[in-house]
Formats: sequence, C-alpha cells, structure tokens
Amino acid sequence: MPFKELLVVSGKGGTGKTTLAGALVEIYRRSNHGVIAVDADVDAANLALILNTESVDDENEFIGGERALVDEQNCTGCGECLKHCRFEALISVNGVVEVDEIACVGCRVCRQVCPAGAIEMRPNIAGRWFCAVGDGYELVHAELGIAQSNSGKLVARVRREARRRAEEADTPLIVIDGPPGIGCPVHAAMAGVDLVLAVTEPSPSGLHDLQRLLETARHFSRPVAVILNKAGLGYGGGRELEALIEEHQAPLLARLPFDRAVPAALARGEGLSAVPGFVERVAALRLAVDELLA
Ligand code: SF4
Ligand code: SF4
Repeated sequence: MPFKELLVVSGKGGTGKTTLAGALVEIYRRSNHGVIAVDADVDAANLALILNTESVDDENEFIGGERALVDEQNCTGCGECLKHCRFEALISVNGVVEVDEIACVGCRVCRQVCPAGAIEMRPNIAGRWFCAVGDGYELVHAELGIAQSNSGKLVARVRREARRRAEEADTPLIVIDGPPGIGCPVHAAMAGVDLVLAVTEPSPSGLHDLQRLLETARHFSRPVAVILNKAGLGYGGGRELEALIEEHQAPLLARLPFDRAVPAALARGEGLSAVPGFVERVAALRLAVDELLA
C-alpha cells in the first residue's frame, strides 16, 4: 500500500506547529491507523517530548562532508597549508599544525599543497539520527552537531529512513514536523510531500510567514492547507488571511482558539488531547486532512 506524507510547517517557532503535529500523530495512533512521525527540526528537535517517546531503539551517525586531519609524525612544519587555507582553519601551535574542526569546510586544498603528504581527509560526523518505536507509532528524529551546516541533508536523511520504514511495514502515513524558516531544510522537508499544513497565528509576522510558506509550496507544486492557531488573540488580520488563502487556493482547515489551558497542558507534558474541546477539534482536523490526502 503506498503511503502518504503530511508536512506541518509554520515559518517561525512558537506557532504551535509541533504541538499540532504531535496531536495528529496521537489521533492516528489512537485509532490504530499506522503512522510514522518525523521530527525534521534537526536543530531543535522536540517532537519526542510532545509524544512522550521514552526510548531510542536505533542511533546512527550522520556523515556530512569531510574534515582535514594532520599527521603530526609526517608534518615538517613548513607552513604551506596555512598559507593556502582560505577558511583560517589551520593553526600552528609550537610548530605543530592543528585543524580547527568547526572552521574547516573540507575543501581539500591543504591536502593538495602539503609537500609531505601529511594531511588526510576523514569523514565528518555532522550529527546523529535516531529511531524509536512508541505505542502505535514510530518516530525518526535527528540532532545536528554544533556549528554544522548540513541541516537540509539531515532532513533528507530522516525522511528517507521514514519512507524506508513505511514501505517495509506497510505504514500508510508519515507525519513530518517541519523545520522553521523557509530555507534549505524546509525545501528538503517539502519536496514530494502529499500535503503541506501551514500553521499560522493572528499576528503580522504570522501572516508574513504564511505568505512565504504558501509561495514556497507553490514553488514546489505541493497542495497546501492552512490552520489558524491561537484564533482570537490580539491582532485581527482576518481579511488579509482570507485574501491570502484565497489567492493561493489553500483551504482553511481549522481555526483553533487561543486557550491558556494549552500551554498549561504542554508544561505538564500533556498534548492537545488533554485540553477540553481540543480532542473534537483535532478529530475534525484529521477528517479534513484525510479528505485532502485521499
Ligand atoms: S580542508 Fe580546506 S578548509 Fe579544511 S583545513 Fe584544509 S584548506 Fe582549510
Ligand atoms: S603543508 Fe604539510 S608539512 Fe607543511 S605544515 Fe602543513 S601539514 Fe605540515
């Protein structure tokens, strides 16, 4: 059975994207509808917290590019490599050349100019990705290493693993908690998905982010629908929102009201289903999503 991929995005943090992605995973899981959750926010993954996923069953290194490695035994201290490294990633300490792993981009120039053949390239461990099996769902998530810049590739890696698992276990749905922004990681998360759920909030920045997300979805020719979260909070902006979703022909699937009980439930480690009135709203949202995915 072919699986479907649903991506939940919001542009910026704090909009309720992960809470909603978690609530959708939860409602599918409860109805025994096979689901794989993917946390594609590899810089600050927290879907495992929302889902209360306790164990990690599989941990893997994510190799992103290469880094230079100086063999002290063969290095003559001639300084050629230091002259040619444009990234100032090599330093000489008492005549011994060392590599700054954060500054090195793996361009290999130093290796080419070293007359003593003292520089090798080694794989760069840019992060880790994990798999966990929860109660009625699987979770694939990842952690990008400090100062690493391969987040788009790591997003693609976790998506690939989720797809592999979906095919292997005949799981019908993958729910992806998307990365923030609209850059490379979002492109990696959005490519080829069956539906993009753009979560917004009633604020000027929320509308601005929504516009950029809708344009990105249009660029990738992906079907998109909108969820207005925290409806009724402050800034109206109703007309602008309606004009925007009309322009992009994106259905408004849900208006979820602002409710102080939501952050209180999250602080207790509970999801949206613990908040009175939200179980029904998420159930209605799920039906609307199912219709669009059918
Ligand atoms: S691989 Fe490139 S960036 Fe890294 S130390 Fe060598 S010259 Fe510098
Ligand atoms: S070019 Fe090679 S031999 Fe010269 S300082 Fe650098 S690593 Fe050492």
